[in-house]
Amino acid sequence: MKKIIIGNWKLNLDHLQGIQLLQKINYSLKKNIEDEVEIVLAPSHTSLRSLQTVISTDSLKINLSSQDVSSYKEGPYTGEVSANQLKKLNIKYSIIGHSERRQHFHENDEIINQKLNRLIENEIIPIFCYGEDLKVRNEGTYLNHLENQLINGLKGLKKDKLIQIVFAYEPIWAIGTGEVASVSDIVEVFEMTKKFISQKNFLPENEIKFVYGGSVTAENSKTILNTSIIDGALVGGASLNSDSFIDIINSVDL
Ligand code: PEP
Repeated sequence: MKKIIIGNWKLNLDHLQGIQLLQKINYSLKKNIEDEVEIVLAPSHTSLRSLQTVISTDSLKINLSSQDVSSYKEGPYTGEVSANQLKKLNIKYSIIGHSERRQHFHENDEIINQKLNRLIENEIIPIFCYGEDLKVRNEGTYLNHLENQLINGLKGLKKDKLIQIVFAYEPIWAIGTGEVASVSDIVEVFEMTKKFISQKNFLPENEIKFVYGGSVTAENSKTILNTSIIDGALVGGASLNSDSFIDIINSVDL
């Protein structure tokens, strides 16, 4: 399966800085890399339109993701951005369930499930984040915790729609901390995810798109990205620097 590397810029960069970084990344990409690796950038909402214009005008082989989406379709919800509005900008992906949104904006599994449905209705691919904090990990209940995030977050989803989801395992203790999960930690969560999905009779295992996020850097990406069951990485901090992001992309064995 083609690897996917997603750069989550979080609350950084205005649209002009975003265009600059996009162009730097594009300039440094190896020729035909898009045959092996899909590159996705997730800037702030205010940058999506400008970046999409550059991408389509210059036919760049880079896709965009939003960092969030409203759980509502439309109406009196000041400050929200709908899936339909993102669709109109040709945004391919949207991150949902990121731990920073769960933590700082009190998003629960029910809201995340509503967001998932809005995205599916608009044919935007959800990058569905799930992960446990250090307390849950140390208590040893993390697999149950993660399974509950899947059960509740994916509730009601039709079998044929599951194929469209990118599962992003992001242990909270690894996000922005410099501490990276081991390959065996990641494989354990992949196995649980695969089992959960097959119990639902959803998909053959090789159809699951499963990525890891949490302190991925150019130094550790080679091991992670070249593990066969790991289909890619969700990269926060290291995606803000074109050199380190390119080094991560280039660490995929072609
Ligand atoms: C993230 O925010 O999704 C993330 C993985 O961040 P970082 O790479 O900085 O740990």
